[in-house]
Amino acid sequence: MKTLEDLFLDSLADMYYAENQLVKALPKMAKAATHEPLREAFETHLAETEGHVQKVEGLFKSFGKNPKTKKCPAILGIIDEADEIAADNKKSPTINAALIFAAQKAEHYEIASYGGLRDWARLLGHEDVADILDEILDEEKAADSKLTELAEEACNEAAKSQSEEAAGTVGKNRGRAAEDALQ
Ligand code: FE
Ligand code: FE
Ligand code: ZN
Repeated sequence: MKTLEDLFLDSLADMYYAENQLVKALPKMAKAATHEPLREAFETHLAETEGHVQKVEGLFKSFGKNPKTKKCPAILGIIDEADEIAADNKKSPTINAALIFAAQKAEHYEIASYGGLRDWARLLGHEDVADILDEILDEEKAADSKLTELAEEACNEAAKSQSEEAAGTVGKNRGRAAEDALQ
């Protein structure tokens, strides 16, 4: 029989694995980004993610356990997709929009997981653990919001206008507008 504490610790082990995978994936995403503020956002979140690994290790200790890792197929799939979309959009004006799109899936997976873990920790009477999980959750939410901001303020529009320019459609429209203005 599994107790809620077992379920909590198994799910924490899944996140311990996921965070370690993200520590490996984020430098690649930073390297693939061509929009400087996006590259910086990935690097900032890499430092936070290294902190999450440390914090999760500490949470096992609060339960009197050694850190345990459990393979998380979900994060491996999300990272696989990120690699694929980054490769498909490499050297294209869509690259930054594509990276944000992929990265937000990882953030949402983390937000869903830490929200549930925080609630279980509180229910199990581990207020201290719940507080740390809340700290991690806040950083995941802030990282997600930052990505939304970068997409909405720069990267989505650049993906649209720069790809249109490259395809020559904007040039044609501008030409037509200029002709209209002359008449
Ligand atoms: Fe994280
Ligand atoms: Fe998982
Ligand atoms: Zn994250």
